[in-house]
Amino acid sequence: MTDETPKSAESPLEQIAIITYNIIGGGGYKNGWLEYPGKKALIVQNKDGARIGLPLWMLFTNPKATEICKTKMEDLFEGITSTLKQMNQIYVYVGLGGANDAIRLTKDLPPQKLSYVLCDCNYRQKINLISEIGNNHAKLIKCECGGWDTLDKILKDFIGNKNK
Ligand SMILES: [Zn+2]
Repeated sequence: MTDETPKSAESPLEQIAIITYNIIGGGGYKNGWLEYPGKKALIVQNKDGARIGLPLWMLFTNPKATEICKTKMEDLFEGITSTLKQMNQIYVYVGLGGANDAIRLTKDLPPQKLSYVLCDCNYRQKINLISEIGNNHAKLIKCECGGWDTLDKILKDFIGNKNK
């Protein structure tokens, strides 16, 4: 036995962020940090607590929809970029409404730490945009429209491996 730790002493804490303009699972998580022994998860969901943060009817009927989407997406990412850069992994839900803004807002994040959680809607277009902003090395995780269950599973898997 040796007392020397082979691991890097820099960041012993494992950290992830999950960002969605919907909510995670059935809405049982609050925005902010969830802390567990040796790990932390930053939860960033839409601030209204609505299951769907960008309602489709609004996208199709409101002439200012594009602008509203952009503002809502920017609001999610506001002030957390430097925090995100310190994460081990960042999961970003990319659905239908707000997809382009969600992708554009990840432009400055390190692709090796990024996972896009994507539904099938406009899939090709999303992949093209991800590649266009230079993040084609990011991970891609397919999910259902809305992303609720997949994000919930990602979070539970992260929490789970040490706390079961
Ligand atoms: Zn979809």
